[in-house]
Amino acid sequence: MSTHLLPTYNRADIAFTKGEGSWAIAEDGTRYLDLGAGIAVNSLGHANPELVQALTGQAQKIWHVSNVYRIPEQERLADLMVEHSFADMVFFTNSGTEAAELAIKMVRKYWTEQGDPDRIEILTFEGAFHGRSTGAIAAAGSEKMVKGFGPLMPGFRPLPWGDLDALKAAISDRTAAVMIEPVQGEGGIRPLPDEDLRAIRALCDETGALLVLDEVQCGMGRTGRLWAYEWAGIEPDVMMVAKGIGGGFPLGAVLATDAVGGVMTAGSHGSTYGGNPLACAVGARVMEIIADEGFLAEVRRKGALMRQKLEGLVASHPEVFESVRGQGLILGLRCHVPPADLVRAGYAEQLLTVAASDNVVRLVPPLTITDDEIAEAVARLDRVATRVEDGG
Ligand SMILES: *Cc1c(COP(=O)(O)O)cnc(C)c1O
Repeated sequence: MSTHLLPTYNRADIAFTKGEGSWAIAEDGTRYLDLGAGIAVNSLGHANPELVQALTGQAQKIWHVSNVYRIPEQERLADLMVEHSFADMVFFTNSGTEAAELAIKMVRKYWTEQGDPDRIEILTFEGAFHGRSTGAIAAAGSEKMVKGFGPLMPGFRPLPWGDLDALKAAISDRTAAVMIEPVQGEGGIRPLPDEDLRAIRALCDETGALLVLDEVQCGMGRTGRLWAYEWAGIEPDVMMVAKGIGGGFPLGAVLATDAVGGVMTAGSHGSTYGGNPLACAVGARVMEIIADEGFLAEVRRKGALMRQKLEGLVASHPEVFESVRGQGLILGLRCHVPPADLVRAGYAEQLLTVAASDNVVRLVPPLTITDDEIAEAVARLDRVATRVEDGG
């Protein structure tokens, strides 16, 4: 493996050179069933013909235009996102962490414009992940991500996950915002109960605090609705999106209401690549496909099918697995063994999964996975569990 890369990843010694739908194909031709999807990114599978068409079609026209000009592909994608969400306006980024960065800046600017520039405290939650920029690591506050990178940006207060009493005690009319993932991804596929999200919305309404949702991982159809917040019947003020929106092309976005987004006046933020024509041409196609109610109904059906099969798997390997959790096609297997052991044993069964915190193996396949592939995936997981029971 190359020694010319920063050693920030413990990489598996596999190089994928091709992909087809739910399959990633290694240099030597071995086909792996991909339940990781580049960590919930390849939402429509590898080399999806419609996305290839969107990308290459745009590549033949124009690749890059500065945001000092109008970008029709960007306007079109913004129209689609506004049409299919709570939002009135959108800013495009290249990644989730940039979206988090802008969301934080927007909250601060909002309160400054309200004449209350000291109202900066954002309530966050343990186990959260918002990315790796200095603002995003301060927001999430996890020991492993912040160590060595101090002093941290002030203004964040982490609360225990799922502890509404702690939130009630912490929130006040000095709180700038509450920032939360409706389903924690890196934190171990931990869905927040719908009634808790509704209670958080109500507390924000009472105190005036903004509700900022991070749907970078759980949005874009993952849970079986376009946005995870729809399950609770509430709407945020600001939302971060990335991962699945580009289907594999780097793209992120911050969605906002007029009241909050409107504070970002000309010159107050920007991005060279954000909203690039290539990214937006792909993103628009992804949105058209995923926002379709028939497509989302299929995600819900397949999610239920996969979950049911996983419950059976857990029951037949009680030493390895504790439980299944998640919603739609963002599922987690909570384990009694180190999840990394299962991920590694997966390679031997040509199955790709991703570890998460809280002893969880994450299953976030392409939303286009077929019923047969789901059955095959669970059969492979069964063999993976047997391998781990047999000591590797
Ligand atoms: C992955 C992720 C991010 C960061 O996105 P990047 O594109 O890696 O910067 C932020 N929030 C959540 C919930 C994520 O899962």
